Amino acid sequence: MNNIVFNHATVRERADMLTFLDLCAERGMHTVSIWGDEIDKVGEDKALNRLRNLGLKVSGYNRIGPFTPDGLRVAEAELERAARFDSDHIFLFTGGLAKGDRDLIGTRNRAEDTIAGLLEKARSIGVKLAIEPLHPMLNGDRTVIASLAQANDICDRLGAGIGVVIDVYHLWWDPALEHEIHRAGLANRILGFHVNDWLVPTRDLLRDRGMMGDGVIDLPGIELMVRHAGYSGPIEIEIFSDDWWQREPSEVMDIALQRCRQIFHP
Ligand code: ZN
Repeated sequence: MNNIVFNHATVRERADMLTFLDLCAERGMHTVSIWGDEIDKVGEDKALNRLRNLGLKVSGYNRIGPFTPDGLRVAEAELERAARFDSDHIFLFTGGLAKGDRDLIGTRNRAEDTIAGLLEKARSIGVKLAIEPLHPMLNGDRTVIASLAQANDICDRLGAGIGVVIDVYHLWWDPALEHEIHRAGLANRILGFHVNDWLVPTRDLLRDRGMMGDGVIDLPGIELMVRHAGYSGPIEIEIFSDDWWQREPSEVMDIALQRCRQIFHP
């Protein structure tokens, strides 16, 4: 299972971070993706000790954001904690438009300035910044970075130490996807590949993601694009779903691993 990672969000409603780490280790995983708010619930020392005792490494750390005018201090503190957990990358989550604001272009420009401001510190402590473009329907309230092209453009302008995460849920619809994945691969900036599925109908934009294989995304097709682009890192299972959150975490993880073995080519 070296090439598969669970994002804790997949089982967070019924498994705290320590339980989640145990479940990953029991399944032979070597790497995990974690959340700062879940560390707070169990305590940083306990979380770090459990990781060390189980021999687990951290792939992605969630997260910096949403960006606020006075949020740089908080963002830097999260960066430092991501470094204490020896995380490979930390996710950036810009947030949407401020209440009453209609200036999307201005908000995007300010978000890029914030990212640029964080990058030097991220480089100095050795944690990569990861832009994860979200679905355009989330521009109003969640992010103002909503395509891989836009994320690639930002990375081109900012240089080393920043990359992209490709989440099929957010990007599967994009006619430029193959081109932009290729472009990200040429720049050696693909930091992660998140999998789940798009259900039809989708009842909730945040909490109704599907298990891989239950929806309409061409998962093997997108995996091939990512692999052809030179990405050799893990496949990260990340499912936000009221339905799956109700089920036994160990059962959810076993089904997800089985689906990955059927669908992907690790
Ligand atoms: Zn994701």
